[in-house]
Amino acid sequence: MSETAEIADAEAAGVAATESNKAARKRRRREPPPDPVPLPGLVDAHTHLAACGGRDPESVRAILDHAEQVGVGQVITVADDMIDARWAVEAAAWDHRAFAAVALHPTHAGELDDDAKAELERMLADPRVVAVGETGLDHYWPSRSDDCAAPDVQAEAFRWHIDLAKRTGKPLMIHNREADADLLDILAAEGAPETVIMHCFSGDRNVAQECVDRGYVLSFAGTVSFANAAELRVAAEIVPDEQVLVETDAPFLTPHPYRGQPNQSYCLPYTARALAEVRGVDDAAMARILGANARRVYRLPLR
Ligand SMILES: [Zn+2]
Ligand SMILES: [Zn+2]
Repeated sequence: MSETAEIADAEAAGVAATESNKAARKRRRREPPPDPVPLPGLVDAHTHLAACGGRDPESVRAILDHAEQVGVGQVITVADDMIDARWAVEAAAWDHRAFAAVALHPTHAGELDDDAKAELERMLADPRVVAVGETGLDHYWPSRSDDCAAPDVQAEAFRWHIDLAKRTGKPLMIHNREADADLLDILAAEGAPETVIMHCFSGDRNVAQECVDRGYVLSFAGTVSFANAAELRVAAEIVPDEQVLVETDAPFLTPHPYRGQPNQSYCLPYTARALAEVRGVDDAAMARILGANARRVYRLPLR
């Protein structure tokens, strides 16, 4: 073989190796993470069962069986829009391990007309609908998507959902993306309901401290385990035991080291263990705290 042919061969091999690495990464992104070592007593405080492949009673049961095998005994499935909300209420009726939260997501706030308001109020009368959520403010999407409600429309819908939580006595589950100050201002001005849950908490230590001082509950997702989340881990450390929850927000935000792969409620123990490590407690004690908090906050029946 001539020298040039050898070089060409080596280059071709190099290209092949790059392609196969790419293919491997692509394959990995579709591959579900392996089961974690079981961690009993956990509740997934925020997930989206329909987006995780839940369609009918059988597929929902399969997702919840899988979760239960690793210690996640109950989940709160959360709606983004009215179609999703109707589905979440049904799913909560299909399986004793599923509970629903209903609201119009801030990005869908423009859909909050009189019919939607009346229907959400009816849904909240169902004992298996345990929270008003997710509502709040999303300042990330308005400039990036024509379909997203404008910030003032979001704020108006948020105020209505705050009032709904107060009237029904159910917790307010908050979505906050890049809107810390406006969101805290509106809550203070309106007067917060008895229980406020900051879902997928993503603020810094100052926002965390402000929420703690106001008595809000901070729910941490897989993001707390990400390599670049040092500040979020500081926030997770300062929250008192009674004010911390854990959630998957599945199918998104899969915990480290499976970031980018599909998420489901059975992945929750990875994030619970990340929280245990941050807070310097053992895994079992952390799981007891997280599970007890979720059952108290959402007033879930004992099983
Ligand atoms: Zn959210
Ligand atoms: Zn969500």
